Amino acid sequence: MLKVCVLASTSKGNSTYVRVGKESFLIDAGLSARKISKALREIGENVNDLRGIILTHEHHDHITGIRTLSREYHKKCWLTFDTYQKIRSKVGNIDAEFIAVGEEFHIGEEGVEIMPYEISHDASDPVAFLVKSPNGVPLVGYLNDCGRINPFLLDGFRKVKILQVESNYSFDLLLKSSYPFFLKERLLGKKGHFSNWEAAEFIASTEPQVAILSHISENCNTHEVALAEVESILAHYTGLSLPFLVMVPYNGRSVIIQNSI
Ligand SMILES: [Zn+2]
Ligand SMILES: [Zn+2]
Repeated sequence: MLKVCVLASTSKGNSTYVRVGKESFLIDAGLSARKISKALREIGENVNDLRGIILTHEHHDHITGIRTLSREYHKKCWLTFDTYQKIRSKVGNIDAEFIAVGEEFHIGEEGVEIMPYEISHDASDPVAFLVKSPNGVPLVGYLNDCGRINPFLLDGFRKVKILQVESNYSFDLLLKSSYPFFLKERLLGKKGHFSNWEAAEFIASTEPQVAILSHISENCNTHEVALAEVESILAHYTGLSLPFLVMVPYNGRSVIIQNSI
């Protein structure tokens, strides 16, 4: 059984619960351990059952719960060495296993396969993750905090069942916003974040069964605008009837998606 639930996804905190068969883990832990534990209870899961956390990069909205989850709940953390160097002073000694772009690693006894992909973002060694079943079927793609699409992502994430993709800002709302110029430049730049347009392009190119739009800006986007812009761009690419289910995690939380593997 495949179960995915976005526990939180805003610029204040990101964390997604994934279960493949009997193995469960978080992708990012940008909420306090207490909030994560509560959110898991609400979806019928227990923090003690988690195998650990796979971490994309060092920004605060992705790491807040790592220290407590590691030290008090004894959860392992899979992350790149450069990311660990960046968060070491905040999290101290944690049970860390180092991963590298392009080198598949496995979680748990069932051998869930996870491939880290290089992404373009203003962090030390940021990654996206593709989670595959033990027999190699692409199940979950997680692409947050990314400034530009690259061909490796497009190729690797093709036909993934569930795609969580950043849809950070609406181009129009960003230009009209009161953000200072340097911040607009950062968001638009190649090490910034995906716009609604880029999210739609990525969905159209990778053709997931379900796409969850995430990391939606509170100042330069809304859930309604993100969904409307992505759907209209997708309709342009693919014709009027969308072959994908596109959804937004309202209040940062998605519905639980269960799918057979
Ligand atoms: Zn970031
Ligand atoms: Zn972020």
